[in-house]
Amino acid sequence: MELLKERIRRDGRVYPGGVLKVDSFLNHQMDVKLFGEIGREFQRRFARCDVNRILTIEASGIGIACITAQFFDCPVVFAKKSRTRNISPDVYCARVESFTHGNVSDVLVSREFLGPRDRVLLIDDFLANGAALRGLASLVSQAGAELVGAGVVIEKAFQPGGDALRAQGMRIEALARVKSMSEAGGIEFAD
Ligand code: 5GP
Repeated sequence: MELLKERIRRDGRVYPGGVLKVDSFLNHQMDVKLFGEIGREFQRRFARCDVNRILTIEASGIGIACITAQFFDCPVVFAKKSRTRNISPDVYCARVESFTHGNVSDVLVSREFLGPRDRVLLIDDFLANGAALRGLASLVSQAGAELVGAGVVIEKAFQPGGDALRAQGMRIEALARVKSMSEAGGIEFAD
């Protein structure tokens, strides 16, 4: 998605440890008009997949998921992060290691909001090592729902998550795939 790549080139900042900061339009301040274009593009790519539920993870996926859901005309469920192990029978639960914070948390979804009739699209801002999408896919599987695929805004293709998940059969659509990036050399896209 050219518009997005231009924006990343212009406003993205590369930090040590392979972190791309896009706080001025995606992760802190949010450019809702751009989110609209992102949502429209996800809808185009997953058209005719009969998506009836979008699943994301708090916090930074929520805004993108909500705007995207307007194009699918379906509800959004976000997996809640919890520091304590949750073994309640009322929730699905998966462990997720955070790339940016380096900690591990349980992510939870109430059984009320995900079930066997659902055709689920995962939405997130970034794909790096794949832990977040893996955790969300586990929740979908626990619910007996159908996983249609995952839409991510930015895939850091130099990290292993995308390749590993695709090899396991997950359909992933990334709107911008970063091939390489450095503090000095800027950002290069894969395609
Ligand atoms: P993964 O679970 O695939 O390793 O990482 C994806 C999650 O970590 C996303 O939900 C995103 O919030 C966060 N993340 C990973 N890499 C970056 C990055 O370079 N910049 C930002 N802002 N978030 C990232």
